[in-house]
Amino acid sequence: MVHAIENAVIGAGVIGLAVARALALGGREVVVLEAAEAIGTGVSSRNSEVIHAGIYFAPDDLKTRLCVAGRSMLYAYCAEHDVGHRRCGKLIVANGTDETKRLQDLFRRGAENGVDDLEWLDGAAARQLEPALHASAAILSPSSGVIDSHALMLALRGDAEAAGAAVALLSPVTGGSIEDDGIVLDVGGAEPTRLCCARVFNCTGLNAQRIALGMSGLDRQTIPQRYMAKGTYFTLSGKSPFQRLIYPMPLAGGLGVHLTVDLAGQARFGPDVEWVEEEDYSVDPDRAKVCYDAVRTYWPDLPDDALQPDYAGIRPKVQAPDEAAADFVIQGPDDHGVKGLVNLYGIESPGLTASLAIAGRVVELAG
Ligand SMILES: Cc1cc2nc3c(=O)[nH]c(=O)nc-3n(C[C@H](O)[C@H](O)[C@H](O)COP(=O)(O)OP(=O)(O)OC[C@H]3O[C@@H](n4cnc5c(N)ncnc54)[C@H](O)[C@@H]3O)c2cc1C
Repeated sequence: MVHAIENAVIGAGVIGLAVARALALGGREVVVLEAAEAIGTGVSSRNSEVIHAGIYFAPDDLKTRLCVAGRSMLYAYCAEHDVGHRRCGKLIVANGTDETKRLQDLFRRGAENGVDDLEWLDGAAARQLEPALHASAAILSPSSGVIDSHALMLALRGDAEAAGAAVALLSPVTGGSIEDDGIVLDVGGAEPTRLCCARVFNCTGLNAQRIALGMSGLDRQTIPQRYMAKGTYFTLSGKSPFQRLIYPMPLAGGLGVHLTVDLAGQARFGPDVEWVEEEDYSVDPDRAKVCYDAVRTYWPDLPDDALQPDYAGIRPKVQAPDEAAADFVIQGPDDHGVKGLVNLYGIESPGLTASLAIAGRVVELAG
């Protein structure tokens, strides 16, 4: 038997939950289908939990526009819903002439992107703020911060359910097809079922390409190749010498091995960039060497044996290691020709920051 529903959101990470909330608040019927036994066990629980300002990408990129808009929405949402966060500010640090030139470009880029509160600091000014820092120059971004991503997801789920959405855990989507009367999804789990949906939102992070490939009737040419870049984190034993987030210059595939201090006061360094074929979250303690080297460029006094292996995350990428950084890929009916279907690919950083803005765009795209 096939059950008819209005909206199915596949995936209960931060994006799926934000989309479900937006739909439910708009008075729409929504079912969230999540393969795991809990919400937020994927990419959304394995990241830096940083609220980004929107400095790094080109002004017209979705990554920029949705980050800048999403950041304001997120701070307001956190304040209204008592979601733990701290607007602690961030320093992006350059060492040497080459990096300082690149930092100047980044400073201009930030201003073009509408990040209007950035401050340029020379090395002495940067050290006045953070005495342990080694820097030729730095950008201060006062509107960057940290967030409790699990509290955010719980709040989004709470809002969605209060507005009538249902969250079905242990409900993996195993296949689907595009039919005349809607999009049919096969759902596995203890009680397998088929749903015929007017709209489907594919918010499955690393699995988005697999879901799309399993949907018969969808033009495969529209599905971008998936790549994965793992990032490993190490915690610092002892107290952080820094008050603010400290980022080196960005590198290919990531934003550089940075320092964050979470809401519990734990300082953490990471993530590095390791292109992988398998979804494997094991932490290789030997990667500490990369971390020590990277951190000592801006904190030379990092003591030996101060780093402990923590966790790893995997960035869903739509570009190969040797290609330029790609934008988020959010495809609606105009892109693939299927009424009611939205596929999201490559939702890496700053997806957490942009989540509320992404949800708004996605709901609009579906029509
Ligand atoms: C190392 C790293 C650091 C990052 N740092 C930051 C940061 O500091 N700030 C920031 O803004 N962003 C950051 N990001 C990006 C951010 O974490 C992601 O953009 C965001 O979490 C993506 O959420 P999602 O909902 O798309 O994916 P996910 O959280 O992975 O959710 C997808 C869900 O789909 C489910 N699913 C998969 N297959 C199926 C199926 N067949 N059926 C049903 N359900 C299924 C999964 O179980 C999962 O729950 C970082 C990412 C990484 C990897």
